[in-house]
Amino acid sequence: MSDLPLLGSHLPMSAPGYFAIACELAKTLGEDTFMFYTGAPQNSVRADIAKMRIEEGMKILDAVGISPSSLVIHAPYIVNPASRRKEENFQFAIAFLKQELARANAFGVKNIVVHPGSHLGDGEDYALDCLADAIDAILEGDQTDVAICLETMAGKGKEVGTSFDFYASLFPRLSRPERVGLCLDTCHLNDAGYDLTHFDEVLAELDFKIGLQKVKVVHLNDSKFERGSHKDRHENIGYGTIGFDVLSKIYRNPNLKGVPFVLETPWIDDVMPYQQEIEMLRSGVYVPSWRESL
Ligand SMILES: [Zn+2]
Repeated sequence: MSDLPLLGSHLPMSAPGYFAIACELAKTLGEDTFMFYTGAPQNSVRADIAKMRIEEGMKILDAVGISPSSLVIHAPYIVNPASRRKEENFQFAIAFLKQELARANAFGVKNIVVHPGSHLGDGEDYALDCLADAIDAILEGDQTDVAICLETMAGKGKEVGTSFDFYASLFPRLSRPERVGLCLDTCHLNDAGYDLTHFDEVLAELDFKIGLQKVKVVHLNDSKFERGSHKDRHENIGYGTIGFDVLSKIYRNPNLKGVPFVLETPWIDDVMPYQQEIEMLRSGVYVPSWRESL
């Protein structure tokens, strides 16, 4: 095994193959971890966990030496725990994420990535209060050891969680901060204004304000737009404004060694780009125009 961190991608998990097919796909693509949604990313309809072919998937993972604890679940991005303008939506986000913790636990997954949400015009301070209340409610009485990993966001619309300062203000408000971590998304960091060409300085700021041990997952994506654009449009590795060299260095940063890296880069028509991206990132060697030969 190499000394590099675990590397995989977002993989689809839908009926009828569910988890078994996602695991099979990870094996085929040579991934050593992966991320999945427990249903569609854009809605909160979820099949019964008993239908998700977990045991079959576990056998496949076992055969290729992937530990389910390294896998990542991404919560659907429509739940908004950062606002209680509509109290029923806020309560729904809490109830859904509570169930998502139980689902993650059934898969043996230890990290759920959650978008912090949108303040809907009420400002970041209000969002901080809502988010802290939501997380406390989600974790109240929870007996699992699944971590909620809040993602760093690009700042599209009224999105919160676009700065380390936001999370530095959030953590001290939580009743169970030990159950909450961060997911760094390189596209979002870039779009939020962080200069990834000086990534050690970015990590030093994060360490000072929050603590590096809070980083549980990295989403490794290039960006279609320039730094500070607040757009959030992922690009294939090497085709965006961040570029291969910077992303490869981030993947090799010794301070992130124990953290799973997950690609969420766009498919090329109907073809997944992950195998090529993973090979280049592992070797550290960029293949110019690799996308043309897919
Ligand atoms: Zn995300």
